[in-house]
Formats: sequence, structure tokens, C-alpha cells
Amino acid sequence: MKVAVIGGGISGLSTAFYLKRGGAEVRVFEREKRVGGKMRTVYEESYTVETGPNGFLDGKPYTLNLVKALNLTEALYPSSDKARKRFIYAKGRLARLPEDPVSFILSSLLSPKGKLRLVGELFVPPKRGEEDETLAQFARRRLGEEALNRLLDPMVAGIFAGDPERMSLKAAFPAIYRLEKEYGGLIKGLIAKMKEAKKRGGKASGPAGPGGKLTSFKRGVSQLIEALEESLKGEIETGVNPQVEKRGKRWVVRTEKGEEEFDALVMATPSYAASEILKEVDRELSDLLSRIEYSPISVVALGFTKEGLGHDLDGFGFLVPKEEGREILGALWDSSVFPNRAPQGKALIRVMIGGARQPGLALKSPKELVRIAVKELIEIMKIRRAPEYIRVFRHERGIPHYTLGHAERVERIFKRGRELGNLYFCNNAYTGVGVNDCTKAAQETAEEILKNG
Ligand SMILES: Cc1cc2nc3c(=O)[nH]c(=O)nc-3n(C[C@H](O)[C@H](O)[C@H](O)COP(=O)(O)OP(=O)(O)OC[C@H]3O[C@@H](n4cnc5c(N)ncnc54)[C@H](O)[C@@H]3O)c2cc1C
Repeated sequence: MKVAVIGGGISGLSTAFYLKRGGAEVRVFEREKRVGGKMRTVYEESYTVETGPNGFLDGKPYTLNLVKALNLTEALYPSSDKARKRFIYAKGRLARLPEDPVSFILSSLLSPKGKLRLVGELFVPPKRGEEDETLAQFARRRLGEEALNRLLDPMVAGIFAGDPERMSLKAAFPAIYRLEKEYGGLIKGLIAKMKEAKKRGGKASGPAGPGGKLTSFKRGVSQLIEALEESLKGEIETGVNPQVEKRGKRWVVRTEKGEEEFDALVMATPSYAASEILKEVDRELSDLLSRIEYSPISVVALGFTKEGLGHDLDGFGFLVPKEEGREILGALWDSSVFPNRAPQGKALIRVMIGGARQPGLALKSPKELVRIAVKELIEIMKIRRAPEYIRVFRHERGIPHYTLGHAERVERIFKRGRELGNLYFCNNAYTGVGVNDCTKAAQETAEEILKNG
């Protein structure tokens, strides 16, 4: 069987890898000159800088399975213990995010009233019915306004660069949604899960917490992309602008270099690009795809001399709740998490700007973005040095925003693909935005195609 994959990010490349391993003939069509999409590492002035993700969590098996299948286990680079220390900027200072009930009680992050309200979650009855709910509605109902503003809002900014007032709980945090449905509440569900894990001899992680150890590769995330590229040597076309057409039961992909027929088609581009490509194939599908929104995000990478910096960078970094009224979403202390990302005696910090919270800020000029990032680090972290290395990465449509109704929209998109015949969708626009979500979807998509083929 012959399969075309349009889009060569982690989703497309890993789908192609699993298809090839299952015996299919594959071709990947990528618009840019290089593959990898949002996953890219740049090496400059002895810094190793990620343009997007800096790793994946090893609590789920999907990316690790892929790494094993690629014989890349030796290159894995687990984060240092410092990564466990995460901070929230609240009431004008950095407060450590509590990791257990005792540190939660001692933490200054929530007021005594806010803590009581959060514990009161135990007594909130579960919501009835299947109607979609925003993250903010859910949090106000179960956890209280303070927990929403100081815990959930920054967490959503950190993962989705999203707005809790508009995001769907069911689509963005299905694990939290299921805890309420299955156990009647979050605390009840977490206790039950901890007991189940103890029985199995393991340890349960929170429904939205880190869920494992952040893990990367010695040379950064590009190492995974390079291994996938190598495994698909001769099967990837880069720098092309693919057009698709349905011809009888088959799919035709046309590029500047000619046309080819395929038994199945995988759309692994962002949904807005899939919408454009499928415009002439099916209007309804194209329209559904165009309705998935994106949040812009910019990454400002700054390298500093550690001596005299004015901060020990002992931790993962920090996130900023919206109510603090600052101009950044947070900052990652990359060289504390992965020490080889900066040369000896130097530190690498990446500052995130924009998201659904402040989309206009993400699109400012690189010069302005650097000015904002440095100003905020001076005020929040009290740093006292000017950066010696500066690099800005702008992602105009950076992260899909799973708004209300997202799960139903995705269901209709997948269904329409099946109706049209052998048309599949695999990208972070649909069933999860993390690297693990992409590699999981890739494995499942490839299995489905091979089974149907
Ligand atoms: C700043 C930032 C930080 C992040 N941090 C993390 C993190 O720490 N951990 C984590 O798990 N996740 C993180 N993510 C999310 C993660 O990076 C993405 O979910 C993942 O890389 C998306 O991969 P993808 O293949 O689904 O999509 P993409 O990477 O967007 O790939 C899509 C590909 O399709 C190509 N394409 C587009 N249009 C066309 C066309 N017309 N024809 C052919 N090809 C086309 C694109 O060029 C691209 O190569 C982060 C994202 C961002 C932006």
C-alpha cells in the first residue's frame, strides 16, 4: 500500500516512520526546506537553543517507544533535579509551586480562604450532562476563583498559551474531565488513582501536573527529527507546495515535480494549512478545519554570564498569572534544566511572550520583544546583567487553541475523512498539543491505515 503524508513535523514524520515499519510505501511532502516543524534546535555561540519544545515527559510511553524503535535511547538526556522546582509569579514575587499536600498548606501562593475553597472541592457535586464547559467555568465551579487565577491560568498559559475562559476542558484536559466523570471529583479521583498506583507498586501523577520527567536529547530535540529523517531517507520531498485531488478511490498529490497516486492520505500539517489544501476536495471539511483557532507565541532566548546575574536560577522557571498584569507568559531556565544548553559559566533563559492572553505582543518586532523580555526579567527575577546572546523565534500561529466544541469539531473532521475514504488527520491541532500527544496520534493513525489497507 502507498501512503502520502503532507507535513513533516513530528506528527507527520512519526506517522511515516510507523507506516514504513509496517510495510507501507510512504512519501512525505513538506513545504519548508527542512523538516521538524515546531521542533527545531539551533546551535549558536556555543548555546543549544530550542525554537519551540525543549522536551517531552517520560511519564507516557509514546515518544519513548519511538525513540526505542529508532535506536536513539543512548541520546536521551533527562532533565536535572532542578526541573522539579517550578515557580509562579504571584503578588509581585516568585513562589514555589507546591508538590505535595504539606508544601501546599505552607505555600503562600493561595490565601487561607483560597486553600479552604480548593479543599472544599471534595464536597462539590459532579456536573451532570455532557455539555462542553470552559476551563474557567469548571475551575470556578469546583476549585474557586483564586485557584483559577493563580494555578490554572498560568498552567494553561504554560502548556497551551491559551485562555481558560475560552478553552474546552474536555478537549484540553481530558484527564481532569474524566476524573470528575469517573470519581465524582478531582481530589476523590486523585486519591483513588494513588491507591491504584500503590497497589501496582508505582506512583500516580496529578491529572495536569508534569506527569513524568522532562526528557530531551543530548543535542536537543532536533536529534529526534534527524533520526526520523534518516529512517525515511529518499522518501521525503522538502520545499514543495503539494496540491491534492481525489481520483476514484485513490488520492493524487501534485507538486512542482509531478504527480503521484496513493491509496491513503495523511494530513499532518496544521489545520489551517489542511483547510487550504482540501478546499477543492470538500468544502464542509475545509470549513471545519478552518474553525480551529491558533495562538501566536514568541520565544526570546537570552544568554547571560552567570556571575553577578543576581539570581541563582535554581529551578525550571516560572509562569505568570494573567492577574499580575505583566507582559510575559513566563520564562524557562533552560540551562538549569538541561545543563549542556549553555557554555561553562553561562546561563540560557527562554522567555515566552503572547499567547491567547496577549496575541498582539507576540507579533511585535524582534527588537521590541527583546526589550520586553529583558525589562520583565529585571523586574521579576531582579537580574542585574545584560544578555550577551540574543535570539528571537516568532510562531505566528504557534499553538492550537482548543476552544469550546473542539472535541465535537474534531470528531466531525475525522468522520468526514473516513466518508471521503482513506483520508486521515494527524497533527497537534486535534487530540493534544504535546509531543507525546503527537507521537501517540502518529502511532494510532499508522496502525489504523495499515489495518484498513
Ligand atoms: C514555543 C513552543 C513551545 C512548546 N513547548 C513544548 C514542550 O515543551 N513540550 C511539548 O510536549 N510540546 C511543546 N510544544 C508543542 C509541540 O512543539 C508541538 O505540538 C509539536 O511540535 C507539533 O508537531 P506537529 O507535527 O503536529 O505540527 P508542526 O510542527 O506544526 O508541523 C507541521 C508541518 O507541516 C508543514 N506544512 C505546513 N503547511 C504545509 C503545506 N501547505 N504543505 C506541506 N507542509 C506544510 C510545516 O512546515 C511543518 O513542518 C511547544 C510549541 C511551541 C510553539
